Amino acid sequence: MRGLSKSKYTTFCQCPKALWLKYFMPEVEVIEDDRQARLEQGNEVGDLAMGLFGDYVEVTTLLPNGKLDLSTMIDKTEREMIKGTNVICEASFSYQGNYCAVDLLRKTDTGWSIYEVKSISSNERKKVEKYYPDIAYQKWVLTQCGVNVTDAYLVCLNSNYVREETLDLTGLFAVIDVSKDIENHYNLVPERIEKARTVLDSEAEPDIDLSENCKKPFDCGFWNYCTRNLPQPNVFDLYGTGFSFGKKLDCYRNGNISFDSLQEMSFDGIREMQIEAALTGRAFINRERIQQFLNTLSYPLYFLDFETMEPVVPEFKGTKPFQQIPFQYSLHIKESETASCQHKEFLAASDGSDPRRSLAEQLCKDIPKDVCTLAYHKSTEFNIINKLAEDFPDLASHLLNISNNIKDLRDPFKDGHYYVSAMGKSFSIKSVLPAMFPNDPSLNYHNLDDRVQNGTEAMDIFPKIKDMQPEEAAATREALLRYCELDTLALVKVLERLMKL
Ligand code: SF4
Repeated sequence: MRGLSKSKYTTFCQCPKALWLKYFMPEVEVIEDDRQARLEQGNEVGDLAMGLFGDYVEVTTLLPNGKLDLSTMIDKTEREMIKGTNVICEASFSYQGNYCAVDLLRKTDTGWSIYEVKSISSNERKKVEKYYPDIAYQKWVLTQCGVNVTDAYLVCLNSNYVREETLDLTGLFAVIDVSKDIENHYNLVPERIEKARTVLDSEAEPDIDLSENCKKPFDCGFWNYCTRNLPQPNVFDLYGTGFSFGKKLDCYRNGNISFDSLQEMSFDGIREMQIEAALTGRAFINRERIQQFLNTLSYPLYFLDFETMEPVVPEFKGTKPFQQIPFQYSLHIKESETASCQHKEFLAASDGSDPRRSLAEQLCKDIPKDVCTLAYHKSTEFNIINKLAEDFPDLASHLLNISNNIKDLRDPFKDGHYYVSAMGKSFSIKSVLPAMFPNDPSLNYHNLDDRVQNGTEAMDIFPKIKDMQPEEAAATREALLRYCELDTLALVKVLERLMKL
């Protein structure tokens, strides 16, 4: 019989098939681009949380091959508990092949409290609930090992915390008492362990159909594998806003899966267009409405796009966990409809200093008051500039003037005035641009330096530049500049195409 870890157990709770696939067919899992970044964030948060209750002993021990030395960790944990150590980090236990490591095990008057640390925000209720089975499993293993678990907590990032000059760990972390919330899950642990072990001992893939568990908050990496035999495109490829995953599942369960069968159903404008465009190749172009949008723009026109980072642990005074910190922008400027484009750009110093003030000042120099600025999905630019205005009151009037004059180039697409099937279910610039310019290599993000080809990569790499060798740092900065430049060049080209229509 195979051993069971905490992560295997929680994967089973998400979906038994996911557990089986992880074990027997790991190569079919699609790993998200930002997984490494999330792991690094998780490690940073975990390391900081160790000091939450003062002195602690960490029992993590590695084998020469870099894997965890579980038996040594279990022995060390036992020794520290006997000694009466107040806080033991990565405290490890095993009961009949069921293993777990507790992030923080803290001594209480009558027993021990367990603390599970997660790099999520305290206001993400759904995500908080996702960890109940995990904590219940830990409590069960410890209880079977004879530990009196008095209570259980989830430690996450306090969404209301604002950093002062130095980091205040008690303010940064929100400690949520989940002792009662996990009770139902706790009672299910023995049965679930039994079933999980049966899954792992079976050579046959579990016959489990798609369910709510496939998507958020889990976003299962086996989605492509499990939907590989569905007709293409299918109901899950329909535009999602206003048509939830649950509604798509309902269609799927009723056999309305292919676009052919969905044609019989009544959908609103965008999805109806999507289905017809996919089945007939028809392009939906409403010139009158596009013209109405174009009439709202005026020259000179400033095409703006920011790149941001979202440090889980706030790095700068006055910022909160997960706050978007802009460090870069690209700006294309067209003085008139027929004028050629000028390009300006800003990329903050990569020495780890706060980029916001210098970016805000430069933005006010580059974009005068009372001009029309064009962004794509403008809420991002709008929110970033408004936050800068809040942070720097002396620049507020200029910044708010800019944000109040932003127009959104996404509008004609999301409102269905331009739709071709190549856009699929997304109106992001990364879908619209290749759909409009399928054969232009200069507008292909995949032809950029592979250091930075999307916003997630930009976000991840910028804070790392300070630790790079000069040559690598210079090449990375250049890659960031060219990536962001393409983002605003894309707006220029898309607008030109709309005007030609
Ligand atoms: S995609 Fe859904 S059915 Fe497939 S393994 Fe993941 S959760 Fe299970």
